[in-house]
Amino acid sequence: LEVKTARFLMSNSSVHKCPEANMPEFAFIGRSNVGKSSLINMITNHKKLAKTSGRPGKTQLINHFVINDNWYLVDLPGYGYAKVSKDQKNKFQAYIADYIINRANLYCLFVLIDSRHEPQKIDVEFIEWLGEKQIPFALIFTKADKLGKNQLQSNVAHYRKQLLKSWEELPPILLSSSTSGLGKEEILGFIAETAPE
Ligand code: GDP
Repeated sequence: LEVKTARFLMSNSSVHKCPEANMPEFAFIGRSNVGKSSLINMITNHKKLAKTSGRPGKTQLINHFVINDNWYLVDLPGYGYAKVSKDQKNKFQAYIADYIINRANLYCLFVLIDSRHEPQKIDVEFIEWLGEKQIPFALIFTKADKLGKNQLQSNVAHYRKQLLKSWEELPPILLSSSTSGLGKEEILGFIAETAPE
């Protein structure tokens, strides 16, 4: 899969206001600062399609982009940002949950995980919730360039082990680096396989 065109379509805060569910959709989510905007820009060959956020927690909308005029890429708000007030946090989590559960054309939700860290409670809980709701998802371990090969392998292995405590089968796991371009072909290949033209 090659991204030939990528354009911003709309932002909103409700699944009911999203564009008509008439094309396959792939969404990206993760904790603030996980490298989501950089990854979206990397796979779409854009410098600033998604706004890399100097201020985490600021982009709290469901952002739709149209890729090659035949699928939607969705940039979801980062979750778990401490400085968002509790009320605000609950509110935006409710509409994200609503989107994830009810978006009919969501082929896969990519959950981004910072490969440098131990499994974080908020990520593990979110992944458990996706399982309960039977949402199709894949994990992307970001910022792979920041670790040596062995450390990277060992962190991912640790994560697998953690997940296997409650999952019989693991979701697809991909690695990425927005600085080296690692993962670009694999992620786009995964999208092409999941939603064949
Ligand atoms: P977001 O909040 O999840 O959208 O994260 P951003 O894409 O804005 O990235 C957060 C910070 O991590 C920025 O300073 C990026 O330059 C840096 N970053 C993101 N991805 C990578 C990566 O793959 N490798 C490295 N070394 N830094 C990255």
